[in-house]
Amino acid sequence: MHNQTSTILLVDDAKSNIDMVLNILGDQYDILVSRDGETALEIAAEEDIDLVLLDIMMPGMDGYQVCEALKADEEKAEIPVIFITAKTDENSIEKGFDVGGVDYVTKPFKDKELRARVKTHLQLRSLIKHLEYISSYDKMTGIYNRGEFFRQGEIRWKKGRSNLFAVMMDIDKFKTINDTYGHPTGDKVIKAVTSTVSSELGEGTIFGRVGGEEFTLLCNAETSEEVIALIEQIRLDVEKIRVESNDGQDIKCTISVGIAEANEYIESLDHLLKIADMALYDAKEGGRNRSIFREYPPA
Ligand code: GH3
Ligand code: MG
Ligand code: MG
Repeated sequence: MHNQTSTILLVDDAKSNIDMVLNILGDQYDILVSRDGETALEIAAEEDIDLVLLDIMMPGMDGYQVCEALKADEEKAEIPVIFITAKTDENSIEKGFDVGGVDYVTKPFKDKELRARVKTHLQLRSLIKHLEYISSYDKMTGIYNRGEFFRQGEIRWKKGRSNLFAVMMDIDKFKTINDTYGHPTGDKVIKAVTSTVSSELGEGTIFGRVGGEEFTLLCNAETSEEVIALIEQIRLDVEKIRVESNDGQDIKCTISVGIAEANEYIESLDHLLKIADMALYDAKEGGRNRSIFREYPPA
């Protein structure tokens, strides 16, 4: 987990409160300050905020409205919001939780309490982020794992299938690499292949490790020629990879690749991947170290 200084957005219209919070937390955290709700949302949109300390009573947007706006924004919804409020009645506090706050502190602040609550929620947020990361990314290669590939893939599929391509790749005769040079060297080959592929993919491409030495990507392109050219470039660059084995030998590897394009005859992401997988099978059958684009329905 990261050890960087966390950034807190402090929203309060009263200068005296701002000074007090800065006094209590300023030495431990980077604190951005806003005197009103509208500006707070602008700052939140621009900056990477780890936690929000939010006053309730402010001119213009009140704290509840600011919190609701943050929670409605998919990218900001996970930022923990702690209300800082002079209101101590149960209804006000309940409303703070209802609109998505995780905690509240009442004014006047108790230094230790404010510090402890902030620390707790930053730790929780950091843990959740870490869990999200390890449940989505493949530990060895850093690319999406199988589950996340399909989650992201389904989202992309629903956005529309025009100009959408699926590519399945598989390292050739990988078992032989393992058997000859050992599993750790095999791992190095997998990492080298994924980093070579990753470095050539355009933004927005979904790339995942869906099996031991099998990788899938989903990308958008204007034409199949464009995708075929990209994959050929990748295939040639994988040919150039040299991985050193434990006994100092330079190991080469190749990949076989199947490509398919979505269209109105293809009814699901699974279907599209199946066609790409059939193309991959053809590439293996055809002698490996090659890519094949498969039309659907067959011409
Ligand atoms: P083909 O050209 O037909 O794809 O042959 P192949 O040997 O690559 O295919 P096969 O499916 O027979 O073998 C894949 C091997 O990959 C078997 C498995 O032990 C190995 N493998 C799977 N995951 C990992 C991994 O994380 N690390 C290493 N080193 N090997 C792995
Ligand atoms: Mg293989
Ligand atoms: Mg395989």
